Amino acid sequence: MKQLVHKLYARGELSKEELVDLLEHMDVETRKELFRLARLRREQAYGDKVYMRGLIEFSSYCRRNCLYCGLRAGNREAERYRLSPEEILECCREGYELGFRTFVLQSGEDPWYTADLLAALIREIKAEFPDAAITLSIGEREAETYRWLYEAGADRFLMRHETASRRLYQALHPSMSFDHRRQCLETLQSIGYQVGAGFMVGLPGQTAEDLAEDLNYLQTLNPDMIGIGPFIPHDQTPLGNAKAGSLEDTLVMVALARLFLPEALIPATTALGTLHPEGRELALKVGANVVMPNLSPVAVRKKYALYNNKICTGDESAQCRHCLELRIEAAGFSVDMGRGDSLKALASRRHA
Ligand code: SAH
Ligand code: SF4
Repeated sequence: MKQLVHKLYARGELSKEELVDLLEHMDVETRKELFRLARLRREQAYGDKVYMRGLIEFSSYCRRNCLYCGLRAGNREAERYRLSPEEILECCREGYELGFRTFVLQSGEDPWYTADLLAALIREIKAEFPDAAITLSIGEREAETYRWLYEAGADRFLMRHETASRRLYQALHPSMSFDHRRQCLETLQSIGYQVGAGFMVGLPGQTAEDLAEDLNYLQTLNPDMIGIGPFIPHDQTPLGNAKAGSLEDTLVMVALARLFLPEALIPATTALGTLHPEGRELALKVGANVVMPNLSPVAVRKKYALYNNKICTGDESAQCRHCLELRIEAAGFSVDMGRGDSLKALASRRHA
């Protein structure tokens, strides 16, 4: 199995059969070697830098019904909130003061925030902080809206493909379309956004073949960013009693993603930090190079409950920033507070 890892390191790809074989027969020694080589690749691409993004969770309303998610429309017990544009700007001000130069605006799919409202907000943020990047993570919208928001100044867009298995996607997303989500990602890329895709590990019913398909899909899409986190059940969802994804499996997928797409930005996700106290540090050591501390007002944080026991819901933004900086440095990396564009985006700018 170690040979397959060396082949992947040398070539940056494996066939689907080889990948499934590797995932199904991952012994301790092979995993160690995979982690070592993934860390090496990340160092070659990005050195020891870890980029920080300020995450603003601005609405917990969602019109979708993803089976795994605590914000799903069908969860009548969920506490809902919306931040006003002024409140969102205030979070950006606090974040900017703390040194952040990327703001990630994330929400459920909430049409209350119209294209016009979002475009006006983006213009205001850009006018006040011209050197900061704006990342949107607001789910599926019309191509025209995506274009309008890009023209208003949004730089990046995060939308995980969630799973590259059509069967699993359809089982988990009533009344959503597998093809439409992929189309959205392609549209976003063609408009010019730096795009982040990604998936969950350990979804009920997910096989090694499904995970291999996730990596194949990512290699074809070639996104700037890749979000990989464990599935964690949420009590008030139909999957409330399902088993969470494992730390080991998630780390393996992070490491493989680094070897398949050496130039990608890969966050050490909050879900990994929730699964294990050192989950994020471990992810940084096997190829991840981004962290996303929370800038949402403390009063609303617990209400943005995607899954059970989400961490960092009680701390002030300054505490989160400080805590993560200490953790990153203790793990042997250095914090970069810059915009942190992907190598792919920087290269295409040079060629423009
Ligand atoms: N509504 C937007 C953005 C917010 S959800 C969207 O869906 O794109 C952000 C991410 O949280 C989702 O992409 C999903 O991968 C993750 N998520 C939701 N529920 C989760 C759960 N129970 N465990 C782990 N991750 C979850
Ligand atoms: Fe809504 Fe996103 Fe949760 Fe799906 S994952 S229910 S779209 S917030």
